[in-house]
Amino acid sequence: MAKTYRNYINGNWAGAKTGKTFASYNPAKKHECVGEFQASEEADVYDAVIAAELAYQGWRREKAKRRIESVEKFLANMESHRKEFSEIITREQGKTLKESDGEINSSVTEGQHTVRRYASLASDAADGEFAGALEMTSIEPLGVVSIITPWNYPVNTFCRKTLPALISGNTVVAKPASFTPLCGIYLAQLVEKSGFPTGVFNCITGQGGGLGNCLVAHPAVKAVSFTGSTAVGRKINEIAASTFTRTQLELGGKNALIVDESANLEEAAKAVVTAGFGCAGQWCVSTSRVLAQKNIAAAFTEILLRKIAGLRIGDPMLPETDIGPVAGESQYRNILKYIDIAKAEGCELLCGGGPVNGLSDEGYFIHPTVFNNVAPDKTIFREEVFGPVVGITAYGDFDEALQLANDSEYGLSSSLYTNDISHALKYSQTVETGMAHINVHTGYKDPRFPFGGWKNSGNGRPENGKYGIEFFTETKAVYWHGM
Ligand code: NAD
Repeated sequence: MAKTYRNYINGNWAGAKTGKTFASYNPAKKHECVGEFQASEEADVYDAVIAAELAYQGWRREKAKRRIESVEKFLANMESHRKEFSEIITREQGKTLKESDGEINSSVTEGQHTVRRYASLASDAADGEFAGALEMTSIEPLGVVSIITPWNYPVNTFCRKTLPALISGNTVVAKPASFTPLCGIYLAQLVEKSGFPTGVFNCITGQGGGLGNCLVAHPAVKAVSFTGSTAVGRKINEIAASTFTRTQLELGGKNALIVDESANLEEAAKAVVTAGFGCAGQWCVSTSRVLAQKNIAAAFTEILLRKIAGLRIGDPMLPETDIGPVAGESQYRNILKYIDIAKAEGCELLCGGGPVNGLSDEGYFIHPTVFNNVAPDKTIFREEVFGPVVGITAYGDFDEALQLANDSEYGLSSSLYTNDISHALKYSQTVETGMAHINVHTGYKDPRFPFGGWKNSGNGRPENGKYGIEFFTETKAVYWHGM
């Protein structure tokens, strides 16, 4: 019998008002239930928002040092629970144990960066001068913020939003994705151990569609930080526009990696394997379009296929596994649908192309799949598949490569492999993506720099860098002349 987990509201573990629950399953063993979770409804969100609103006035007035201490304690708790937590992520989300450990690593690294950045902001503010008059910029929190996260990076996306929100004095209502509620509840358990005052952080599980309205439109909610699909991001923005609720939307991608004629083909192929098939192709920054210069396209493709043939698909709990299952049944069906569309539209299948014999009865396993001759009008060139599917398109001159890379409604990440400095320069100035990589794969990131997309891949301030905290704060010019 699977364990039932409750919402974390106002420092208590509470059942949903309707008494209903939903189950989360292990995508590698699709009949194994990971746990039962509260199927919350708007009334539960309402309770969480009220708890966060009541806690806000106290938390915003705490000294910066006090808030920093709790966030540091949370990061230390993540570190000390690393093994157990990695296993939970793998069991619920399906990525390999190595990848889950990597997700915890990047969450802790980014969290530490947030602490350093906020500590330096706080110490700059303390350096104000008083010479007859006090004039300064006061940086203040917003109030209650909603954090809505996806299932592909359930821990990293949570931390990248929640930690800057809390450290800068906001209170939080978080809603994890319905494929990965246990990751969200485990994070709430770690928050509970980290000394935050009651009500400062709240976490509720349930289906996003039914909760979205309250999470966005409740008058106490001053900002929404959302990561997920472009379609849901658009809905959230429509609701938020009418109440001037601030939004930070990190959305889908259709990320291109250009292999220039001068590129190191081994390195380029390695990058496509990492960013095309890491997390079974379910990174928002996955490489899904490879644009290869026509003189080297055949040689590059041969190297890529050799590397893919060496990948081991299977139980994500085993250390030797390179690719686990995709995250759940709807994902599995959707990816297979795109593979069928690509075949029907005449794209040339080079490898993969369907479920993995012997494994797909157990879980949602799909072969790493590569299509060739993917023209720009093909569906898999244009739409986000969000699975282990890469399309190759050959191009002639470098301007054509840039035109193809930008020929997308999305603008999240991109990459160029080259040894030609003029191409590198032109790419960095021309490409329409929030992250542009040269000789490093599309998923590479560093917390010092902004993480966010252009076009339909993002809206509002990006995460990380100086913007990660900026999004959760308001500025006030204070002019104090005489008494
Ligand atoms: P999704 O949009 O279906 O769901 C994301 C979250 O929103 C979930 O918690 C879901 O329950 C909730 N939700 C659903 N409907 C809602 C509504 N009407 N109002 C409020 N919340 C609602 O996305 P997903 O399937 O969980 O994640 C995959 C998508 O996320 C892909 O498009 C991927 O590219 C994108 N993604 C983007 C980034 C980024 O940083 N740009 C990172 C990871 C994933």
